[in-house]
Amino acid sequence: MYDVIIVGCGITGAAAAFALSRYKLSVLVLEKENDIAIGATRANSAIIHAGYDPEPGTLMARLNVRGCEMAAELCAQLDVPYKNCGSLVLAFDDNDVKSIRALYERGVQNGVKRLELIDSRRLRELEPCVSDKAVAALYAPTSGIVNPWEYALAMAEVAALNGVKFLLSHPVTYITGQLGGFTVTSCGEQFNARYVVNAAGVDSAAVHEMVAEKAFTIKPSRGDYFLLDKSEGSRAKHTLFQCPGPAGKGVLVSPTVHGNLLAGPNAVSCLDAHRVNTTAEGLAFVKTHALKSVPGINFRDTIRSFAGMRANSDRNDFIIGFPVPGFLDLAGIKSPGLTCAPATGEYAAGLLEQHGLELVKKDSPVTARRKIRFKELSIPEKQRLISENPLYGRVICRCETITEGEIVEACHSPIPPVSVDGIKRRAGTGMGRCQGGFCGPRVLEILCRERGISPLEALKDGEGSVILFNETKAGGRA
Ligand SMILES: Cc1cc2nc3c(=O)[nH]c(=O)nc-3n(C[C@H](O)[C@H](O)[C@H](O)COP(=O)(O)OP(=O)(O)OC[C@H]3O[C@@H](n4cnc5c(N)ncnc54)[C@H](O)[C@@H]3O)c2cc1C
Repeated sequence: MYDVIIVGCGITGAAAAFALSRYKLSVLVLEKENDIAIGATRANSAIIHAGYDPEPGTLMARLNVRGCEMAAELCAQLDVPYKNCGSLVLAFDDNDVKSIRALYERGVQNGVKRLELIDSRRLRELEPCVSDKAVAALYAPTSGIVNPWEYALAMAEVAALNGVKFLLSHPVTYITGQLGGFTVTSCGEQFNARYVVNAAGVDSAAVHEMVAEKAFTIKPSRGDYFLLDKSEGSRAKHTLFQCPGPAGKGVLVSPTVHGNLLAGPNAVSCLDAHRVNTTAEGLAFVKTHALKSVPGINFRDTIRSFAGMRANSDRNDFIIGFPVPGFLDLAGIKSPGLTCAPATGEYAAGLLEQHGLELVKKDSPVTARRKIRFKELSIPEKQRLISENPLYGRVICRCETITEGEIVEACHSPIPPVSVDGIKRRAGTGMGRCQGGFCGPRVLEILCRERGISPLEALKDGEGSVILFNETKAGGRA
């Protein structure tokens, strides 16, 4: 019998596991996909929002401000790329000026620190590439950017080091029981727990309905993005928003922690929450709106386009609570769920304690993580590392200068990757201009060697994404 089973491991599930892993508890995480953080957590704007957007008094507002406050220190502790770049909401006309004033008031009510309304002269000092049609802005210096999937991975890895068990490729299909505990079915196996936490993102309503009456609806909304080469990375120093509308925070232009430029997202309601393809119309919309903020962006330097799916719901807030005793929903975690995550994890642990889970601190839990990032080392450090382990002397990903040593380290990390993209998310291979065109086959080779599998079994990303195919074996052409 586990104390807690967490269903789903995006950043919300990872943060809950991280928070609970400090206590003397047995915790199991069941994730449907073959890696963690490959739902909304891997495809979003990567912004640590300051907290002026959510409606005052909502849980979302509270967790947003707390999550933003936690981000810098937690990212340093977990060795996760984070930059406190600040954000600007641009106003282009009188209506927009009214909107940024309203956002300012909201921010003050939500407890956001150091917010400022600034005029066009100050705006241009802060952000020289911004459109000359922008007349004013709301400046939020506490906002930042992060590597979202690494944030989740880091929390999950530390949780794993503290004894939390992770089972990937384990979709939860059935949950029974209530008082005295639950039986959770996945892949034909049954797991028992006293408490269950539902962190299933766009599927959180389906998981909720395994144990309780329907209470809310997830209304998935897709957002398309352009990721531009580092040659465009200096177009924006801050995250540049436009005024939010009914469909969300609007199209932004932002630097990324890797030095690229990000433009997006639009917002398109979708019936199928799992179809995360971009569309030509969606990308055209993003381009037009991004150019309104920063007219000089050269979209010919796009290195990737992608889409993410928001777990919007029919509520104006996150859906966090116990629909039946012992079963905690962390549902409808829409934007700013990434920012909120560490605060949501803490809050979830507190709620479980209020509902009878005993939280006894471990004597010395792991709280930090360190990674070798070869390209960031000094020359003497590089030399010392290579002399200790020559694999650090072999650069595999030329665009990002990622060595074989880092890839091997990723292969044996606490939650080991099973795909080429799993290595990308841990080591950063294939993140550069060639997007894995050059290093992909070498990464595949190392993955197969380290996992002891045949190249025919190696996956690009999710289940079924085999890269190599033996036509002779399959009965096709020899
Ligand atoms: C376009 C877009 C832009 C965004 N921008 C920002 C931003 O800039 N800043 C910000 O703070 N937030 C942003 N967000 C919101 C943020 O990304 C999400 O709130 C956050 O990632 C949600 O994390 P999650 O863990 O709740 O969901 P997910 O990351 O979707 O994880 C849910 C997990 O549950 C698993 N699962 C589902 N069903 C089952 C099952 N039956 N059994 C087992 N596992 C299951 C899934 O496979 C998945 O891994 C954005 C979101 C989108 C889509």
